[in-house]
Amino acid sequence: MRKRWFSLMAAVLLVVGVLVPASPAVAAPTFKVPFPCGQSWSGQTRSGHSPAYAIDFNRTDDAGDPVVASAPGTVDRVTDLGGTSYGKYVRISHAGGYHTYYAHLSGFNVSVGQSVGYGKVIGWVGSTGGSTGPHLHYEQRLNGSDIQVRFNGALALYWGTKSYSSDNGCSSGAGSGTVDTSGTPLTVRSGPGTGYSSVGTVADGTRVTIQCQTSGTSVTGTYGTSSIWDRIGSGRFISDAYVYTGYDGYIPNVPRC
Ligand SMILES: [Zn+2]
Repeated sequence: MRKRWFSLMAAVLLVVGVLVPASPAVAAPTFKVPFPCGQSWSGQTRSGHSPAYAIDFNRTDDAGDPVVASAPGTVDRVTDLGGTSYGKYVRISHAGGYHTYYAHLSGFNVSVGQSVGYGKVIGWVGSTGGSTGPHLHYEQRLNGSDIQVRFNGALALYWGTKSYSSDNGCSSGAGSGTVDTSGTPLTVRSGPGTGYSSVGTVADGTRVTIQCQTSGTSVTGTYGTSSIWDRIGSGRFISDAYVYTGYDGYIPNVPRC
């Protein structure tokens, strides 16, 4: 959580009659450019594309370059359509009804049911299916519908060609935060909720490494109300409502538990 005034703001909103949901809907995953950290790729959108919001990515001598998962998720399709359409493609299922598609691959590096995180190589750029030259055809979908692509929350260029640089997998995937309870030790739970058993405490002011984050019991703490729980060890969870992470919601780059 980030701002102390968040809870004050929420209280003000309640006073003026705005409904503040106790537990927000699942947020969109933080999608990243589907290439390894530090690479720059030219991404083209065009209204005649099918589907319309897909991006075709290219760079010099790109045939055989690795393609990586855009966000954590589960691979749910590894399919070869032969000489038509997507050719060899991978689909990844993400939280909240989102899917990403990676098409015209030359080969696969994952199988159906596999969990993937940021930076995981899923296949290689190719020109399979209805493609006339090596490129990556990339899509984001929500509940099956083609949506405009976002990387780190920022909308891609529609329409045109733009250079996108990747920060996918740049960090180790662990986040950090500082416990702030204004004094009392914070209870550590065996799972992401107040109903789980206490397995210890962390002192106010402790710097913690956050291995992953997940949704659990809604808690009101120093940084407002949050249903996010931070895993700080094996079987050790603390409420994000008491942790300063620099972010109001999930920390980009940190995986979901
Ligand atoms: Zn395409």
